[in-house]
Amino acid sequence: MTIAARAKYFADATSLEDLRAALDFARENQLPILPLGGGSNIVLTGDFPGLAVHVGLKGLVLDDQGDYTQITAAAGENWHQLVMRSVAEGLGGLENLALIPGNIGAAPIQNIGAYGVELKDSFHSLTAMEVATGNLVEFSAEECRFGYRDSMFKQDGRDRYLICEVRLRLSHSWQPQVSYPALQQYFSSNGVAMDTLKPEVIAEAVIAIRNSKLPNPVQIPNAGSFFKNPVVDVDQYTSLRQQHPELVAYAAGDNWKLAAGWLIDQAGWRGFERDGVGVHKQQALVLVNPGHRCGSQIVRLAMDIAADVKAKFGVDLEPEPRFYPGL
Ligand SMILES: Cc1cc2nc3c(=O)[nH]c(=O)nc-3n(C[C@H](O)[C@H](O)[C@H](O)COP(=O)(O)OP(=O)(O)OC[C@H]3O[C@@H](n4cnc5c(N)ncnc54)[C@H](O)[C@@H]3O)c2cc1C
Repeated sequence: MTIAARAKYFADATSLEDLRAALDFARENQLPILPLGGGSNIVLTGDFPGLAVHVGLKGLVLDDQGDYTQITAAAGENWHQLVMRSVAEGLGGLENLALIPGNIGAAPIQNIGAYGVELKDSFHSLTAMEVATGNLVEFSAEECRFGYRDSMFKQDGRDRYLICEVRLRLSHSWQPQVSYPALQQYFSSNGVAMDTLKPEVIAEAVIAIRNSKLPNPVQIPNAGSFFKNPVVDVDQYTSLRQQHPELVAYAAGDNWKLAAGWLIDQAGWRGFERDGVGVHKQQALVLVNPGHRCGSQIVRLAMDIAADVKAKFGVDLEPEPRFYPGL
């Protein structure tokens, strides 16, 4: 969110040896670690009193295995470039995830997702370096315990691993995932026939929709969706629906996922501004920092919004980005 802050130490690791040396240094000096990819999903609330490690490992291999192509990508590769490379090769599976900022290494942390597709749908496995030992450990999809904007790396695995390499498998019997209303609308208003859809065409649609809806972080500093869409049980959903017939919600298994942006908008926060930080005029889910203010101001605004939504709807909002050094 273009926030000025300093780390006590910084390492730019472009090899496994660099990463191990950085971890040794942190261990010897009892420093906390802040793993960094592209920095698009963190909010710096102050100076970081430890070692910020930029995981800059590079390398991308596409390997045709008959039924599928395996992509092996090092953590420092850019996510969107990987998506565009895959669609240029005619491979389907990642196109709905075009234009998500950041690097491969961070993608499994919150199981990135957009337009009805999540990383887990094409994920095979990853290799991570254990912070405590410097050993390399492999994790299968099951072991990553992916959920909605969640994985074990945000739970009990938090701060324990540096992700070094991610392996994806893109099936050659790909089926387009275009049930998302915004995609349907885009194809119908642009006269695109649904039976001829190619991964590249879907990626183009996703890019066009995202560019029209989401503020570009380079122009208006922001961290994308600031809150996860809250998931509530049927009873809470039914009672909310009775009070607010226009509630925006999607079935999520036995539960319901509420549109956090709708709740924030209804609570009156869209377009709100305070001391250089605010809520985007078109997207209530996006907090903006046009004044390049410190992260704690953003976090204070987020907390005020969450408290207000709780008071008005009885629903808890959970922030999506991670705060460093914390609150
Ligand atoms: C405009 C905008 C739109 C966005 N849209 C979406 C969207 O549609 N869907 C979605 O899911 N997300 C979205 N995001 C969030 C963001 O793009 C993702 O979370 C992305 O994966 C972050 O990548 P990064 O490299 O910038 O991670 P960073 O911000 O650098 O790091 C994010 C977290 O991962 C940790 N981390 C980073 N790299 C590693 C590593 N190698 N090993 C261990 N831990 C690591 C960091 O410590 C931090 O906790 C959006 C963000 C922005 C700004």
